[in-house]
Amino acid sequence: MTPNHEASTSSVVSDEEIAAMVAGKDGLRVLLQPQVDLMTGRIVSAEALARWQHPRLGIVMPAEFIPAINRMGLDKLLFERVCLRVIDILLTMRRAGIAVPVAINAPASTLSDESAVDFLLDLIYAAELPASLVRVELTEDQPIRELDVLRASLMKLEDAGCEVSLDDFGTGHASLKLLSAIPLSEVKIDQYFVTRMRRSAVAFEVLRTAAELATRLGWRVVAEGVENVADIPALRAAGCRYGQGFALGRPMPLDALMVRLRTQRDGGEPLAAPANYASSWIEAFDGGAKETEPAFPARVITQ
Ligand code: C2E
Ligand code: MG
Ligand code: MG
Repeated sequence: MTPNHEASTSSVVSDEEIAAMVAGKDGLRVLLQPQVDLMTGRIVSAEALARWQHPRLGIVMPAEFIPAINRMGLDKLLFERVCLRVIDILLTMRRAGIAVPVAINAPASTLSDESAVDFLLDLIYAAELPASLVRVELTEDQPIRELDVLRASLMKLEDAGCEVSLDDFGTGHASLKLLSAIPLSEVKIDQYFVTRMRRSAVAFEVLRTAAELATRLGWRVVAEGVENVADIPALRAAGCRYGQGFALGRPMPLDALMVRLRTQRDGGEPLAAPANYASSWIEAFDGGAKETEPAFPARVITQ
């Protein structure tokens, strides 16, 4: 059994251990997953994703500890720790001459807490970083209790220059009311639709309509869970300008992301995909993916 398998049932980690991990110095790691412009293949930003380097179990995934952290009211502490790491990451990138926005995940309970927002803004000011390099993703795992309070703290972030993104759009608690009430720069369409659009015309139409709504409102549209480069032409046709997923880059340590970003900066070519994907990737950008295109609903294939 691999460490990942062992860690895949939350019964293996107790609340006490989780609380100690969030409060302690060791254990919490942050990986970065690239977000890619589907028109050019270039990495344009990255998402910070928490991992727990457990002494006995190996890597423990967020699904095993985030719900308990939220339940125990430790979400703000986790947010602060991830913020500290992300500021370090941005400073390391700056020293290497690279400026790529990094997104931090946070549930509504964290973002409704003005002191959490102030903590992040103080870090950004102290580091003398442009606030536009920090993005906040509102995760969809909680119902919104006090919309006015959430709205006020998101406005504070936006006024300071940080962008707000709505995560997992289409599968969570977001209502049209929420969409029209909070300041947003981006929606991330949940991988549920991206995965199903190959075999379901309905899933494809929902994805396309969601992307159209977001585009009309002036927001960037990111498709989540892009596992197949052959899907890229259809995603573009559906109005998803940006993508994130295993086919474009797995969550990776900062060093590995920096290698990709340096290559991109120095070489200029689309190197967003790992080598074994490279040829089909380049075909997708050249329009050469036609031959391998999946069976999407005929009327929406425009590439
Ligand atoms: P998310 O924010 O929607 O993050 C995307 C998740 O999808 C990540 O899972 C990522 O590894 C996974 N993913 C990316 N590309 C693909 C793909 O092509 N196929 C598939 N099947 N999965 C893909 P991960 O890292 O396990 O995180 C799960 C969730 O945990 C995140 O979903 C986010 O809601 C939460 N999370 C992660 N890090 C943090 C954090 O620092 N704070 C908070 N509050 N939540 C976090
Ligand atoms: Mg996210
Ligand atoms: Mg998501």
